[in-house]
Amino acid sequence: MIDLHSHSLFSDGTDTPEALALAADQAGLRALALTDHDTLAGLERFMAAQPQVATRLVPGIELSCRFMGRPLHMLGLFLDFRDPLLRQRVAFMRQQRLERNQAMVQRLQAKGIPITMADLAAEAPTDLISRTHFARVLVRQRAAGSPEDAFRRLIGDDGPCYVPFPELVPQEAVRWIRDAGGLALVAHPGRGFPRGFRWDEAMLELKHQGVQGFEAYYPDYGPVEQSYFLALAGKLDLVACGGSDYHGGHKPGQELGVGTGGLHVPDGILERLQSLCALGGRR
Ligand code: AMP
Ligand code: MN
Ligand code: MN
Ligand code: MN
Repeated sequence: MIDLHSHSLFSDGTDTPEALALAADQAGLRALALTDHDTLAGLERFMAAQPQVATRLVPGIELSCRFMGRPLHMLGLFLDFRDPLLRQRVAFMRQQRLERNQAMVQRLQAKGIPITMADLAAEAPTDLISRTHFARVLVRQRAAGSPEDAFRRLIGDDGPCYVPFPELVPQEAVRWIRDAGGLALVAHPGRGFPRGFRWDEAMLELKHQGVQGFEAYYPDYGPVEQSYFLALAGKLDLVACGGSDYHGGHKPGQELGVGTGGLHVPDGILERLQSLCALGGRR
């Protein structure tokens, strides 16, 4: 069993990169990718843990994009996380996120909620602040009853205090990833998009933009959805990958490798990705 999608406290998870590596080893995973949102900051520590574990550790990222007006997440796997251009590109995105966060704080304050950037900094273990951290501060300040309530009433994609940051278009994310020698794979298709969205057409378009595969294994996919995406990957000759999207204590009940219990990402996918990586090299 492998797991190609997880988060550490460098984005919005709760585990350190070392703890993730050790937990994967204990769970008997053959491979684990660390794919924090829009940051490479945890990867040095994650990869440094390799000698202590039998699990193959895979460096990754999950880049926030917008596609047809909806949020689409692009996974980059096996990328050179020390690549200077990639680091510069990701740093630029981080600055955009910071400015977005300041704008969201202002909107919440305008509603009489006394949230500050300092409150968010105190909630987040590193300097990457996402809406997950907003939700936790809002609950703490009793401006929301639960994180779900905070997203529903205030900071969700349709909420009055949400401000999008200029996210990447998929083509740009693909370029960032592939320029750094990585593989570009769409995360959890189906999530964040309306029912009936034509993933067959969208994925063909994304393939033309350089996408090499997408997740067909994801904890909350039902059997019908999983079969659909597996068949689509076969039809389009794209790699079907997947993982738990583990966030530690921020997504309780979601475990490494197995997700909510039924997830099983076959080992063979690792070899397929590795050979694709060897073929592609750097563009
Ligand atoms: P950001 O990148 O700061 O805009 O935050 C995006 C993150 O917020 C996502 O990766 C999710 O973890 C979380 N999120 C977004 N919408 C919701 C929602 N409706 N309920 C719970 N978490 C959400
Ligand atoms: Mn997340
Ligand atoms: Mn995601
Ligand atoms: Mn994720």
